[in-house]
Amino acid sequence: MVVRLLVAVLCIAGIADGSTGAEDLRAIKDLQLDPDRCFRVRDVFLQREDAKFFFTDGHLIFAKPVLGRVVAALFLATDPSDTGELLLMPPDPAERQSTARFLGETILNEKFRNAMLFFTDDTAEELDAAIRESPGSRLDPEVGARIAPRWSIVLRNLIELSAGRALVDLYSGRSAADGFFVAAVRGRSLGRFDVVVDPTMAEQVVAGQLVRSGGKAYYEVWCRFQARSVRDGRREPAKPVAQLQDYRIEARLGDDLYMQVKTTATLVPHHSGARAIGFDISDKLEMTAVRIDGEEVEFLQSRQPEATGRDSDGTLVIAVLPEPMLSGENRQMEFDYRGKVVSDAGSGVYSVADRTNWYPRTGNQLATYDLSFRYPARLDLVATGSRVADFIDGGMRVSRFDSGKPIRLAGFNLGDYASASRDVDGFRVEVRATKKVEPRLQAPRVPVLIPQTTLPSSRRNRSQPTVLVLPRPPVESPAIEIERIADESAAAFAFFLRRFGEPAMPVTVISPVPGDFGQGFPGLVYASTRSYFQRGDRPLRNLSPGTQRFYADLLRPHEISHQWWGNVVYTPFDRDGWLMEALATYSSLLWLEEKRGAGERDEVLGGFLQNLIRKSDGQSVESAGPVVMGRRLRTAKLPEAYSLIVYEKGAWIMHMLRGVLGDDGFLALLRALCDQRGSEAVTTESFRELAAGFVPADYHDPSLRDFFDQWVYGTGVPRLAVEWDQDARGGQHHFNLRLVQSGVSDYFPVHVAVEVHTLPGRSLVKHVLVGDGSDDPGFSVVLRNAATRVVIDPDGWLLAEKP
Ligand SMILES: [Zn+2]
Repeated sequence: MVVRLLVAVLCIAGIADGSTGAEDLRAIKDLQLDPDRCFRVRDVFLQREDAKFFFTDGHLIFAKPVLGRVVAALFLATDPSDTGELLLMPPDPAERQSTARFLGETILNEKFRNAMLFFTDDTAEELDAAIRESPGSRLDPEVGARIAPRWSIVLRNLIELSAGRALVDLYSGRSAADGFFVAAVRGRSLGRFDVVVDPTMAEQVVAGQLVRSGGKAYYEVWCRFQARSVRDGRREPAKPVAQLQDYRIEARLGDDLYMQVKTTATLVPHHSGARAIGFDISDKLEMTAVRIDGEEVEFLQSRQPEATGRDSDGTLVIAVLPEPMLSGENRQMEFDYRGKVVSDAGSGVYSVADRTNWYPRTGNQLATYDLSFRYPARLDLVATGSRVADFIDGGMRVSRFDSGKPIRLAGFNLGDYASASRDVDGFRVEVRATKKVEPRLQAPRVPVLIPQTTLPSSRRNRSQPTVLVLPRPPVESPAIEIERIADESAAAFAFFLRRFGEPAMPVTVISPVPGDFGQGFPGLVYASTRSYFQRGDRPLRNLSPGTQRFYADLLRPHEISHQWWGNVVYTPFDRDGWLMEALATYSSLLWLEEKRGAGERDEVLGGFLQNLIRKSDGQSVESAGPVVMGRRLRTAKLPEAYSLIVYEKGAWIMHMLRGVLGDDGFLALLRALCDQRGSEAVTTESFRELAAGFVPADYHDPSLRDFFDQWVYGTGVPRLAVEWDQDARGGQHHFNLRLVQSGVSDYFPVHVAVEVHTLPGRSLVKHVLVGDGSDDPGFSVVLRNAATRVVIDPDGWLLAEKP
């Protein structure tokens, strides 16, 4: 799921002043501070939801109105003793912990020298009233005249990328209370950071900072939570006010794979009054026309601000409607756009660069898709939906796909493919493979020294006396592997089908992409070309054994299982997104276990454990944060924390849950999850409640609240140590055992199986609850034969460091 600041889509009512959208956007971007509205302030207070700003001493200057509204202000310390102060207290323990991980304190309390405020809410009115009520404040246009020119430029740079969103808000005519608020603060110790209140986000309050490291940008979110007015029930989060449905996308791809597209869709307004609507689309695509009900309308396309978790750069296209939309009155939208989203890695291995925004979207909403592509006849194109037409016309191939039912996201892929297919219990699995791997994976051409004298005279070359370059060794071909890939994919698919029930679509196509990743659309799977090979094959040979296994055995089953996890079952909120990746990763392990046995599964889980407890800067990777933080775990210091925690700890969480529920209970839980068939979006809490229904009667944590608090909402990998002794008395052995848990919080109850071995092949298993606050967890038992060995957690159900 993509998180973003200030780019959510809004629809709005307009201001009928005769100016064009472009002129109004220009006016916002040309924002000017107003010297005549500059105040020397003392003790002026502003509260935006949970954020409290104290403008203790300094100057506060408002911007001149644009479109009749003041949308910016600047606080500036002009005297060495001037200061402002910000106080933000995250309301829940997890967010306080997150704040502490970044700032060393559980609250954000920072003195600042300047703060630039940009807003479409009623901040200006509130500040105005606060200044009037503050006896120590006075108008000071002289200082204003000094400040305004330089700081207007700084402010304009800041708002450049958010101006489009502001335009959409200003066109809305909605209550100012529904607008957004951003403070870009220059803190005394924290440097430049942001506090955002955006009612269109699921979690409206965000504080964080853009960090650049190693040529990459990371938006580090310190805390993010629901605004107090939403928590108190005084306000509902703003819902998307319109949605696109019934997409019909007609794309033409030339020989150079440049794409020209006409997309039509039904715009369904959810409330009346909107006169502008924003759409997200790739920055590689240029919008050339937007029509509503056949009439061309004005549109603006602008780049969006950097945000967390975005997988590709996007632009905001704002369509300006001639008159406000009315709820219940659907409109026909038409978009013409062009650009190059298909990239060529060589050898006929292509990929769609902007996989989630190659067509205009209004968020993650369900829609039907009728996709038609006209493309070079030498290629084959696969897409979400059933192929309903396929023919050659004027030297070009035309393929058409029908999604048949509403889906969340449409995708396509193309290449010079070999293909194979398998029928699986009424469903079909198709596989496409390129004839060669991309050059990156091909064997290098090795220069070889050969004495000229060994060559026949016709091949001797005087200018290069000894060096010859031998031809490249034969290139490994994914196409040669296609029957094996088809068999394996069909077997994994059948395995999931039997356990999870009906998949997202009747046909699932597996197609190769260059690179190290995979992705699952409804009915379409992208799989790294590396995943077409087996361990030890040349394209994998230079990788570690664990990485070879990842590509050869786990990647494709993971992506195939996304046909269920993410497409049958879905999670609309970022916080719950971990569930889909944890379930997909664990599904690939279930399949590995089926194919190769529990030993291999445990080897993989053992590797995951090592990755999680690995220390970085004295801290384990796992301690970066709980799995529910999702993409927020990816920080400049620990870019790998997101994938290790969400995928690998996530898989461990599923494995431990299976340990609690038993095999039958766990599989019944997965089936029950799928049987809801997307009728209800899954959240972490609804998953816990569903799982609690499968907990055995004698388990110490029937609601699984402790389990989720520890493993899902919390952090910590316990370290277990065992102490035992035995006394031989009267022909019997009095055996005592004590378990010691460390490395986690005091209350971290864990159910540990302990196996005591006596004679060869003879053992006894006892369960010990540690970390629940009781003294000396352990047991005493009288044994007929002396204990020879003790094994903690013999079946490996526990994410823990064990002796
Ligand atoms: Zn995945």
